[in-house]
Amino acid sequence: AGSLDCVTFKCHVFSIFTHPPVLTERSFVLQRGTTMTHQYPALTAEQKKELQEIAQRIVAPGKGILAADESTGSMGKRLNPIGVENTEENRRRYRQLLFTADQRIDSCIGGVIFFHETLYQKTDDGTPFAKVIKDRGIVVGIKVDKGVVPLAGTNGETTTQGLDGLSERCAQYKKDGADFAKWRSVLKISDTEPSELAIFENANVLARYASICQQNGIVPIVEPEILPDGDHDLKRCQYVTEKVLAAVYKALSDHHVYLEGTLLKPNMVTAGHSCPTKYNSEEIAMATVTALRRTVPPAVTGVTFLSGGQSEEEASVNLNAINNCSLAKPWALTFSYGRALQASALNAWKGELSNEKAATEEFIKRAEANGLAALGKYESSGTAGAAGKSLYVANHAY
Ligand code: 13P
Repeated sequence: AGSLDCVTFKCHVFSIFTHPPVLTERSFVLQRGTTMTHQYPALTAEQKKELQEIAQRIVAPGKGILAADESTGSMGKRLNPIGVENTEENRRRYRQLLFTADQRIDSCIGGVIFFHETLYQKTDDGTPFAKVIKDRGIVVGIKVDKGVVPLAGTNGETTTQGLDGLSERCAQYKKDGADFAKWRSVLKISDTEPSELAIFENANVLARYASICQQNGIVPIVEPEILPDGDHDLKRCQYVTEKVLAAVYKALSDHHVYLEGTLLKPNMVTAGHSCPTKYNSEEIAMATVTALRRTVPPAVTGVTFLSGGQSEEEASVNLNAINNCSLAKPWALTFSYGRALQASALNAWKGELSNEKAATEEFIKRAEANGLAALGKYESSGTAGAAGKSLYVANHAY
């Protein structure tokens, strides 16, 4: 028997406590809605509108993200090879040469991710970097995670910390000009990894972060990065990427995250760095778009790939192939590159005042290439030179 609110089951139960056993009739009432909880409104219509509009501005056609959010430690790894001391002033001078590039970047950079220190630094003439970026119509973002920590009982897998006080930090960053945020989770591939625990834990922490950001008017970039370390083939990376993304979207749903007001920052589906088989950009594009189509709801506003140690040229060519893949693609597919937008600029700069102009030109060149790739209109010259050099770092930490 049933009604809208409950279903009643009648069944016969054998009691073994009587002698002889007797058969009695019992009824059970199953309340509807005991597992599907009611959602109390998490965001107002105005809050949702604001979030979706921010996300759309960042990934407007032909635009992507400059990830300039390297932590102080990571900046050391960038500056050391070019012989520049990792001081606050050198980091400021370097970021300044990126942020003051001429108007050519305005049509291909929709957002810039800052590190905490950078958000409060200024140009030589005393203008805050955040104002410089905002005034040119580019959205300011901020890295809010506090790095990875070990998950005990796993073979070196990690979770990401930074939830304590996150709501207060987001509220402050919003006041200081940031409209989106980034949180990076890291997973790795081996024959037995990522583990169920790592997948579940990282999906949940990303969802918790995303929910807190949205409560503060900040668009969360959800980044479950699967590292390219290993000798696995393309199929294995696709399989793992699908499992990880499926878990992430289940968690985002459980946490009532408003998908239209989010961006996904995934790895492209590529073979492991030491895989003997090499795949071309069409194969990488097909595996990547297939994995996304199987797991990422069309409501998500944009997918902004990380470059993950690909060379600058590879990252542009692969993004271009992704945008030309014949499968239907309901989201913007663009870039959120760190290394693949900056490697040539860093090499041209070497800390010298006289090299600043040349360094800025290198950055503009990559920004324009990736802007075209986001439209599927990038034509590689095939002679990449230094831009073809792999930027792979084993077990990369940001
Ligand atoms: P790469 O493009 O250098 O992989 O970095 C992007 C990023 O922000 C990773 O969190």
